[in-house]
Amino acid sequence: MNTAKKAAILEKIKEYDRIILFRHKRNDGDCVGATKGLREIIRLTYPEKEVYIIDSDHSDYLDFLGKEDDPISDEEYESALAIVIDTATEDRISNQKYKLCREVVKIDHHIENDSTQYGDYTWVEEERSSACEMVADFYVTFKDRLKINSEAATYIYTGMVTDSGRFRFRSVTGDTLRLAAEMLDQGIDTDTLYAHLYLTDFESLKFKSYVYDKMKITEGGVAYVYISRDAMEKFSLTFEEACTCVMFMDSIKGCLCWIAFIEETDGESIRVRLRSRFAPVNKVAEKYRGGGHDCACGATVYNEKEIEALVADADELIRGYKETHEGWL
Ligand code: AMP
Repeated sequence: MNTAKKAAILEKIKEYDRIILFRHKRNDGDCVGATKGLREIIRLTYPEKEVYIIDSDHSDYLDFLGKEDDPISDEEYESALAIVIDTATEDRISNQKYKLCREVVKIDHHIENDSTQYGDYTWVEEERSSACEMVADFYVTFKDRLKINSEAATYIYTGMVTDSGRFRFRSVTGDTLRLAAEMLDQGIDTDTLYAHLYLTDFESLKFKSYVYDKMKITEGGVAYVYISRDAMEKFSLTFEEACTCVMFMDSIKGCLCWIAFIEETDGESIRVRLRSRFAPVNKVAEKYRGGGHDCACGATVYNEKEIEALVADADELIRGYKETHEGWL
């Protein structure tokens, strides 16, 4: 699929001596894995090229994937090709110096519309379970020309695993698993990878218990929790660590939607992370300055009133879904 678009991107990679990879703010396993995976593939295939990821955004939980590259001068950006991965809109690109680059390639799996268009060359496949799946597909499409190793495969596999909820989400297809198999064939140490992804210290289990204690469930079946900066301090959590609490609410029978509201460090806005099963909830996110995928999206609110309004909207949506659908759990 989209072979011409992929071929155009490969031609651009061949053309430039310097390539800089970009990703979205609030790094996650997918954007980190995809950029690091592609960086490694390009470095292995074209050792003479300079390939960088320059990003001051950082997620501690992904430290095991290694460091980024040192900053470079503005002049060096100017003659480079930018490849932006996993980032739907320009404002979400973490290193805004991509604007200095001579040409921009966009590779993404988020929903596309008029407001998300950017870049000179774009390859967007909304149905892909992760951007890493697209990088794996890029490699497999040009397998006869590109090189890979277990390090690159591990980066890519990490994003495939994390963005698909360990291959559980409905976006996972036969293609996802075939591409994951290609990565596994490179020799990934999955024991170590899953240890990095699953092991937790005892303090974070106490935070989990706090979340279960504080969360509420609406009559329609929306679970939600508010995490204040005080709570983060109490459990010695970084903002990003606190944000993971949305996952704690993902397996409650009858709760088709779960939402975490996390007070931002500036104390002015509140990050909203929405998740759901069966019922798409991104319309709710869009109403509150956000967006994302059908069942995994985000938004921003500013006060308690907006929290209540968002929860009420989600509750109404879930009630409507339950009334008109069967087979949900
Ligand atoms: P998160 O809860 O940050 O993991 O986000 C889930 C999905 O929603 C990701 O694909 C994000 O790119 C997207 N998303 C999160 N917040 C926003 C936002 N404010 N605007 C648009 N998309 C968002």
